[in-house]
Amino acid sequence: MSKQKIGQNTICTHSGAIVDPLFQGAVSPIYLSTSYGFLDQETKRYPRYFNTPNQEHLSKKIAALEDTEAGMLFSSGLAAVSAVMLSFLKSGDHAVVQNDIYGGTRNFIESHFKAYGIQYTFTKDLSINSFEECIQKNTKLIYIETPSNPLLKLVDLFAIAKLAKSHNIVSAIDNTFATPIVQKPHTLGIDVIIHSATKYFGGHSDISAGAIASTQNNVDKIWNLAKDFGGNLSDFSVWMLERSMKTLAIRVKAQQKNAKKLARFLEKHSGIDNVYYPGLKSHEHHQLAKTQMKGFGAMLSFELSNAYDTVLFLKSLKLIKPSMSLAGVESTMILPALTSHALLSESDRFAQGITDQLIRFSVGIESKKDLIYDIEQALSLSKKH
Ligand SMILES: *Cc1c(COP(=O)(O)O)cnc(C)c1O
Repeated sequence: MSKQKIGQNTICTHSGAIVDPLFQGAVSPIYLSTSYGFLDQETKRYPRYFNTPNQEHLSKKIAALEDTEAGMLFSSGLAAVSAVMLSFLKSGDHAVVQNDIYGGTRNFIESHFKAYGIQYTFTKDLSINSFEECIQKNTKLIYIETPSNPLLKLVDLFAIAKLAKSHNIVSAIDNTFATPIVQKPHTLGIDVIIHSATKYFGGHSDISAGAIASTQNNVDKIWNLAKDFGGNLSDFSVWMLERSMKTLAIRVKAQQKNAKKLARFLEKHSGIDNVYYPGLKSHEHHQLAKTQMKGFGAMLSFELSNAYDTVLFLKSLKLIKPSMSLAGVESTMILPALTSHALLSESDRFAQGITDQLIRFSVGIESKKDLIYDIEQALSLSKKH
């Protein structure tokens, strides 16, 4: 193609595909070799060097989607998170970390940073001031996640990037909830983008994977640590992930279209107290969402009124699955109080706005009317007497 910038669906379908020169097959061949020739070869290929043909090529699709120079794949989201953090933080360094981040990431920081001699501060809230307040002389990384889990709060990407640059600090974002279809943080100045590809990239709840995207320089730096830690993705999973990512844009768009309609339905329902979705005018960061997101994603959360039994509500669902994780083509719901935030004390949990009545909803691609019907019938069965 010429200079014209190729569209998102075309990137999803074609970028980074491996051409099959032998048979002109329509899809990328899968290379399962763990042993590659070295004579007269520029690249010494090996799975843990993250450079087998399938890994190398799919990384290009991820970089194209995030509008970065380079990308890399990992065996899980946390493998990507930990590789990024430990690549930019050394003993004596300090990190500023957004307060409400994914539980596993928080656990990694709280359980292991001390042993590495790395200091950290969690921000008070998501405002730029609260990030700025935490910066110290030895701060080397600002880490964010927007929209956040489970209340879908937003952080101002452009302002964070500016703040980080003015202090010569690397900025990193967990972009799992938004996906590059909805938000491209690198175009707003964020340095490193991280994904749990287990979620929307995979999209069918059957692949564990992670990904990063950044400048070639940063990716080389992360590679240098990651190749010694391991954590590469098996080529079979890489190939599966390539197949899944062909539909990333159409899936996410269908899911967010449903999410917007479901959010409006829930907001009007008398049995629902609060709905948290960046696409609603009532959302505290709706204006910011309009400037930095294209669409508002497919995650939302809501509170059942006290007249309903939340566990009974989830048990009464016939279509929507009460199950962990998120982002599959099938709709799922969880109770953060019993899952992701179960280890917090009740007062800490309430302080974060996570009540016992809060339900997080990962909206799938099912027909909207069937999702609404399912919620209505479950509500009618879960009213307290
Ligand atoms: C699931 C998730 C992770 C961790 O990814 P794994 O693939 O489970 O290691 C990190 N961040 C967010 C926002 C997630 O939802």
